[in-house]
Amino acid sequence: MRRFEGAACRAATRQPIKAAGREGEARGIAIGTDEHTEQVKTKGLRAWSLRKLFVLLLVGLYALSLAIFVVFDVQTQREQTEGALLEEARVFSHEMDAVWQFMDNSQNIINRDAEGNYEFKGLYCSLVGKSVGRLFSAQTDYTIRYTNFDPRNVRDTPDAFEEEALTSFNDTPAREYYGIADFEGEEAYRYVGALRVQESCLECHGEPVGELDPTGHAKEGWTTDSVGGAVSVVIPVDRHMADLQDNVLRDVAFFTLQAALIALVAGAAMQFLVFRPLDRMGQGFKAMRAGDPGVKVSDEGCAREMAQHIDQFNAMADELQHSMTTLEDEVARRTHELTTAKRHLELQRDMLERTARQLSQEVRYKSDLLSMVNHELRTPLTSIITMAQVSLDMHEPATERERRAWESVQKNGTVLLGIVNDMLDIAKQEAGAMVVQCEPVDIAEVLCSVRKRMQHLAASCAVTLTVEVEPDVPLVEGDYEKLQRMAENLASNAVKFTPDGGSVRLEARCEPGMGDVLVQVRDTGIGIAGEDQARIFERFVQVDGTSTRKFTGSGLGLALVRGYADAQGFEVGVESELGEGSVFTIRIPADRIVR
Ligand code: ADP
Repeated sequence: MRRFEGAACRAATRQPIKAAGREGEARGIAIGTDEHTEQVKTKGLRAWSLRKLFVLLLVGLYALSLAIFVVFDVQTQREQTEGALLEEARVFSHEMDAVWQFMDNSQNIINRDAEGNYEFKGLYCSLVGKSVGRLFSAQTDYTIRYTNFDPRNVRDTPDAFEEEALTSFNDTPAREYYGIADFEGEEAYRYVGALRVQESCLECHGEPVGELDPTGHAKEGWTTDSVGGAVSVVIPVDRHMADLQDNVLRDVAFFTLQAALIALVAGAAMQFLVFRPLDRMGQGFKAMRAGDPGVKVSDEGCAREMAQHIDQFNAMADELQHSMTTLEDEVARRTHELTTAKRHLELQRDMLERTARQLSQEVRYKSDLLSMVNHELRTPLTSIITMAQVSLDMHEPATERERRAWESVQKNGTVLLGIVNDMLDIAKQEAGAMVVQCEPVDIAEVLCSVRKRMQHLAASCAVTLTVEVEPDVPLVEGDYEKLQRMAENLASNAVKFTPDGGSVRLEARCEPGMGDVLVQVRDTGIGIAGEDQARIFERFVQVDGTSTRKFTGSGLGLALVRGYADAQGFEVGVESELGEGSVFTIRIPADRIVR
């Protein structure tokens, strides 16, 4: 069990992980090829590490908020500067107004001689005001002057900004007009304050229009409260703008410092609280892949959420280790079972091989036996039967007893030969060596030949044997000899199990509708119980009827009939009732009819 707490663990687990990847590939486990991993790595967000994303996000956020901050700061600083400039300009304007007022109020004192007689000295308000303005302008970088739409002195002619201000004063009740505007090719703060005509102004500027005032100028004909002119104050803004720029730069520097500090703290917190636990968990997963399912990850110094994830990971690792241990036990158990089963199978295989050897030996014995039976029994039996027949036919037996003896030899020999033939045919069927001919067969001919061969037996049993073939029965495709054996076996059974005086009928007809050809052997014998009807076609099955048997049998006759029928594609069946007789039917399908 390993415990992951830092970078040292990363280095320690790197090598085994690569080895595990190769091993996994070799086993066909989808651990992932380098190519596949590369493809996955370059897809979408996966192409970005969390750290990179975090840094990009912070930088983006910083850039956006800095831009907003700069716009806002410049705007605020500008408004503040313009506010301060306005106040400054107002102060100048009010001061110039005060000078004007002072001179206006002092005219009566100024224009008196020592005796108190009126003597115009030429120090009238506009002259003094304008002179003070010019003096002030000459000594500072401010410009203060008086202006008018129709000035008495060409120097007081308004420029474009002042014209706009005067127009606004004439058209609206506004008393001041200001803003940043051009002055003699440079940007400056401009302020224009309206001068309204007062009662005292009328002496020089009132009615009648054109009359010369004390200064020798023609009166303008103004009335009180009309706009008599304006004080124009021009304050250079380059210094203020430089201050504004300095302020903004200082604010930006402070903002950047603050953002950097925040980013530093946030980054450190992320590294400590998020990346470090994630790295530990990553190392844990790698170790797990490398084959250490019980790996433990330390949650030391982790915040609650991360600690919970690490706890889940550790719990999963525990379960995995438990499952693997269980699995290993299970695999060991199953392996043991398989080994035992294999040993068992090997024993069985040995046994089967022994049995197969025995069987093949037995098959050989059987084959030898059949050849022996075929050769050693059939040949002498045929000779004995022929001999008995010859003795009966050619040489008249001397006594009745001798004749019956020869007849008995012939009859029992024939039965024995039948049994031997049946056994040989059954053996052939078993070995799959039965050869079936496919030739046109005349059913009527088959049945007649059977009657001929059975006639003697039937007569000796006092049973009437007849053949009844309907004229429309066609030729069928089959094996003549096999069909004859089938009919002969059925007929011989019918004769054997029919008491004296009974009858056996060999019939053939076409089934109406289906068109199948039915060959039937019908007797009036002892019949077969329902429960025995299916099993009489099995080998060596004989229904217990010893009391009614005229001949012994082998129990192979009907099995052979069924075997011959199957080999030719025919069907065999029986309908019977105890004491009422039986009907054995060979059904030859319509498609076997020769067209
Ligand atoms: P077996 O050599 O005994 O005749 P089979 O296979 O030919 O052997 O017949 C099986 C048994 O079916 C017979 O032993 C007999 O009990 C019954 N069996 C067959 N044919 C008839 C029949 N026509 N009437 C009554 N029983 C029959």
